[in-house]
Amino acid sequence: MATINDNYLKLKAGYLFPEIARRVNAFAEANPDANIIRLGIGDVTEPLPEACRTAMIKAVEDMGDRAQFKGYGPEQGYAWLREKIAAQDFQARGCPIDASEIFISDGSKCDSGNILDIFGDNNTIAVTDPVYPVYVDTNVMAGHTGDANEKGEYEGFVYLPISADNNFTAQIPTQKVDLIYLCFPNNPTGATATKAHLKAWVEYAKAHGSIIFFDAAYEAFITDPDLPHSIYEIEGARDCAIEFRSFSKNAGFTGTRCALTVVPKTLTAKAKDGSDVALWQLWNRRQSTKFNGVSYIVQRGAEAVYSEAGRAQITALVNFYMENAQIIRQQLTAAGLKVYGGTNAPYVWVQTPNGLSSWEFFDKLLHSTNVVGTPGSGFGAAGEGYFRISAFNSREKVEEAMKRVTEKFKV
Ligand SMILES: *Cc1c(COP(=O)(O)O)cnc(C)c1O
Repeated sequence: MATINDNYLKLKAGYLFPEIARRVNAFAEANPDANIIRLGIGDVTEPLPEACRTAMIKAVEDMGDRAQFKGYGPEQGYAWLREKIAAQDFQARGCPIDASEIFISDGSKCDSGNILDIFGDNNTIAVTDPVYPVYVDTNVMAGHTGDANEKGEYEGFVYLPISADNNFTAQIPTQKVDLIYLCFPNNPTGATATKAHLKAWVEYAKAHGSIIFFDAAYEAFITDPDLPHSIYEIEGARDCAIEFRSFSKNAGFTGTRCALTVVPKTLTAKAKDGSDVALWQLWNRRQSTKFNGVSYIVQRGAEAVYSEAGRAQITALVNFYMENAQIIRQQLTAAGLKVYGGTNAPYVWVQTPNGLSSWEFFDKLLHSTNVVGTPGSGFGAAGEGYFRISAFNSREKVEEAMKRVTEKFKV
């Protein structure tokens, strides 16, 4: 008799977004004339930059030309793309990362889950609370946790609470943890990390032989010139960190799919016999066995991000979303709400007024303004009392949504 991976039964059945959809659909059915504005989901809305489209059209033409046709590409990604990433995203910022340490993939979501393939099952794992749910669920699936309690906390994780009290940056743990997930700029809180904060993490990791998984999916949204974009801006990070990046948010590739993972060749972890093994070697083996690369056409599209025109278009796209974030911040503040984030990230993290729970505020906002956001409690127990508003939408919808909120909530 075939059996299943019982760890899947521990997962809290995809509660957050289905529950949002259920409540929104029920409201829409009861109020067919309501003009609902969705500022909930973390997906981009604006079209692909022209430079990327032009490059992909040319790549399709290449595929129709016998001399230019490409079959399987390198599992690690084409060198012409990896070299541009190494030069412009890393070396230009003083990060000592070589093109050979960059692995192109079809997404950071899958990479941040797949990375567990090359780690043992007995690591102590730290996540912030609230957190991007992928880090948690992939560890549950891999059998690294026990069951969840009624608040949704799984036995076996070290949860690092983040709130307004600590600027949404976790206290460095006092106990030893082996794997640490950090996401800056942060989804869902929109918080950022200073160089000093990342330096403290790198020092901790080096002292304990820990590995940091650094998710930099939103680095392009950093506007403050003093903030680090990569963990490799911190000396010593090559020896303790893996970085995930994606073209999803900066270049609108959520539906096109291209991302990258950096595994420095100097990064090692322990084998059972106590020897140090290079993680690069294991990830390279993992990718070569289980992955056959990202399509040539998409990689050409990603390469165009690094052209002069591409860079200008990406900047304009990011600026557009960040202007939305400013409008959201200003209007919610004017409505008497306490807001965080939204200055170096496309998310505004709102403290719910009058002690309302995240879901109570969700319902109130939906019913009184027909605006949909995301309850903070869906990202973890410590997200209770907060609410996420996304800047990914058209200007018109953001302005209309904020006009309604200020009218209803103005004190
Ligand atoms: C959107 C997002 C990503 C990017 O995921 P892709 O699979 O590359 O689209 C990664 N991490 C976080 C926290 C995100 O919000």
